[in-house]
Amino acid sequence: MVNAFSFACSACGKCCNSPPAMSLPELFRHRDLFVGCIAIGRVPRRRLHEKLRVGKHENILSGAEIAAFDTIADTLLHRAGDTFSITTQGYDYPSLARCPALEDDGRCAIHFEGKPVTCEVVPLDPLVPDALQHLVLAGRNQSAAYLGADCIQEGERTGAALMVAEGRIEDASAKDALARRRASLAAEREVWGKTVFESLRKDLFESPAALARVPAGGFLTISIAPALLAVAGVSARCRQLCLDYIDSQLALIERCIAQALLRRRLDDRPFTRELRGFASAYQRAKAILAVPVSAGDSSSQPSRVPYVEAYLSGADR
Ligand code: SF4
Ligand code: SF4
Repeated sequence: MVNAFSFACSACGKCCNSPPAMSLPELFRHRDLFVGCIAIGRVPRRRLHEKLRVGKHENILSGAEIAAFDTIADTLLHRAGDTFSITTQGYDYPSLARCPALEDDGRCAIHFEGKPVTCEVVPLDPLVPDALQHLVLAGRNQSAAYLGADCIQEGERTGAALMVAEGRIEDASAKDALARRRASLAAEREVWGKTVFESLRKDLFESPAALARVPAGGFLTISIAPALLAVAGVSARCRQLCLDYIDSQLALIERCIAQALLRRRLDDRPFTRELRGFASAYQRAKAILAVPVSAGDSSSQPSRVPYVEAYLSGADR
């Protein structure tokens, strides 16, 4: 069996070293635990016959694999010269080096009440075609976040689920989680992602100077307010859901900053500044949304109303 990897999570918590990527409904559900933000990253565009190599694993990209990457880009990502991911995620001080939901015994506090789908997908990557997930697992095996956890093993192993083999996802629950995360990313792109992308196109995506702020292999984080404004315009109910979310977030940001001030760490200061920036953006969004909708106002896309309202309420899970 070639390119086979097995996986058994012992819930050691090692890879829970930062807040995860989360959809807007997931952030709404856990509004008192995670500060939400938008993360913008570059996704490398793959070329035919390009060689991908991780340790002893090597793959020369075929036409079918390029087509699979293109499908992912067309449905989950955004193109403006380069390809970009625009996702919402939790935000916290890197000095804490942990997800806010991680308990001291290594367990996840929200495991039974809507754990983010991203965490169910671990250790796979929804932005990589299924046929190449063995390279993802080989890479994770070498990464610091998984070092010593021994949860990813090459080949078939007793007591571990066969995760991938011969270019297929073998584990049914992993396959299901991957499908749900991809569906969620596609929904996010439709519900608010395209609007935010277009609003940033000129000043960020088409400006080489501004794009230099997107770190290689990392993310530029910005306030989540543009995503909220994109969905709040759909209906009065969406607007109220966003206003309620903003109030919870303002209170959470205040608590996070108060705890950081008690820690008195110099390296926390840039992140306190960023959180204060998020709070200001929330206040501006709140002022925009506080203007009452007049009786004659209605959504420009009435067909979207039930879908987006149900989406934000988390009724799609
Ligand atoms: S490092 Fe591995 S064993 Fe530990 S929580 Fe993450 S996936 Fe599970
Ligand atoms: S939400 Fe739970 S599983 Fe996901 S990173 Fe946080 S602690 Fe880990």
